[in-house]
Amino acid sequence: MNIKEIHEKYRKKELSISEVVNDIFERIKSRENEINAFISLYEDEARERAVELEKNMEEDIPPLYGIPIAVKDNISTKDMDTTCGSRILLGYKPPYNATVIERILSQGVIIIGKTNMDEFAMGSSGEHSYFGPTKNPHNHEYVPGGSSSGSSAAVAAGEAVAALGSDTGGSIRQPASFCGVVGLKPTYGRVSRYGLVAFGSSLDQIGPITTTVYDSAILFSAIAGFDPMDSTSIDIPVPSIDEIFYEYDKKRYRIGIPDEYFTEGMDEEVKNGVLDVARRLEEHGFPIKRISLPHTEYAISVYYIIATSEASSNLARYDGVRYGYRAKEYETLEEMYKKTRTEGFGAEVKRRILLGTFALSAGYYDAYYLNAQRARRLIKNDFDEAFKDVDIILTPVAPTPAFKIGEKIDDPVSLYLSDIFTVTASLAGLPAISIPCCRSSKGLPIGFQLIGRPFDEKTLFQAGRFYEEFLKDEF
Ligand code: GLN
Repeated sequence: MNIKEIHEKYRKKELSISEVVNDIFERIKSRENEINAFISLYEDEARERAVELEKNMEEDIPPLYGIPIAVKDNISTKDMDTTCGSRILLGYKPPYNATVIERILSQGVIIIGKTNMDEFAMGSSGEHSYFGPTKNPHNHEYVPGGSSSGSSAAVAAGEAVAALGSDTGGSIRQPASFCGVVGLKPTYGRVSRYGLVAFGSSLDQIGPITTTVYDSAILFSAIAGFDPMDSTSIDIPVPSIDEIFYEYDKKRYRIGIPDEYFTEGMDEEVKNGVLDVARRLEEHGFPIKRISLPHTEYAISVYYIIATSEASSNLARYDGVRYGYRAKEYETLEEMYKKTRTEGFGAEVKRRILLGTFALSAGYYDAYYLNAQRARRLIKNDFDEAFKDVDIILTPVAPTPAFKIGEKIDDPVSLYLSDIFTVTASLAGLPAISIPCCRSSKGLPIGFQLIGRPFDEKTLFQAGRFYEEFLKDEF
């Protein structure tokens, strides 16, 4: 059952919160051994909270009241482990909650556990976790995508009703697509980053992973909105669920299909699946238009310069003094730093720190970082231009469906290239949602992406909901 269905049953008193929590932990017991979606679980706490919430239940409960939710392990949760999938944060329990956590708790959410992820959110396969890879619930030999691998797999496997993830260059949208669930990256500045462990600060956003577009809107409207604790948070009103879905069945938005996202050599099943979504929308009155986003070809290079540069600076704080893990043997302070970081970080994180430090170093800064920032502006301008003629841009989420575990582990560049369709919206700060549309011949889910104007998540929800309600095949 999804959030909306459970909420309706709670209101009619047809279901108790403890029953739902019980079902969730039964499900976790039967599937978690294989899937490895969680780094930590809080079963006793969840059961206690369920009883507490039942006692205090009023007539008019908020939509998330009593809903069991999983949280990515880079979102700070007071007195609960927050490892970021890294050895270097073993044992670290933040003394405060992220703003998004405060917001969902105040609605009555039950946090059931913290989910597995690529270390510090660096990766697209869920394989770069200190706690071992997460498996795709649709086929355990395949990756679930990443870096919000555990959050997506947990929701797809019914181990959580919904989850929070984070997206820097696709980490909500791509695993949602690989696992057959819905993932939203909100507009940059829409959701507070206070308490989100920083990776690429100018790109990071927290967002919902759910089974439906409707649920995505519920969770989004709970976490979004101005927060004085985040200096990049923007004070723009957040639409309510009623406003979001007001007459959504009557709206016919203009949809752009960018040529650069349907290239030669891309997976035929992905291409045909996504173009079929466009065809169905067109049949139902959504005008479809071919558009061009000419600077797309630079997006991967730009993203990997900016994200690694910001990461190299953000990750300087893990020194063995302030958080988590510290090397056991050392003579000097300098040696303690070195050993802690050598032992604490995995290979991918070290690769990014090296790349980012290089890109920011004197003599190279102008050639790499500064040029990347300029190219970022050109990518943003492409979108501004396109949104003069269309309301939404429809694209694939990833060039292929989920790949096999181990297939790309020795080839970081090929993994980086697979982010091509998601990093653009991140660089431009735009909202984008990934929605399942079909399955590959191997039975693996394929999703499509809708990209919107800044702060126009509402249009994405409306069009996405239209597809989900009226055009989607049984999935
Ligand atoms: N796959 C991309 C990367 O490795 C995006 C990760 C993310 O969005 N956190 O950087």
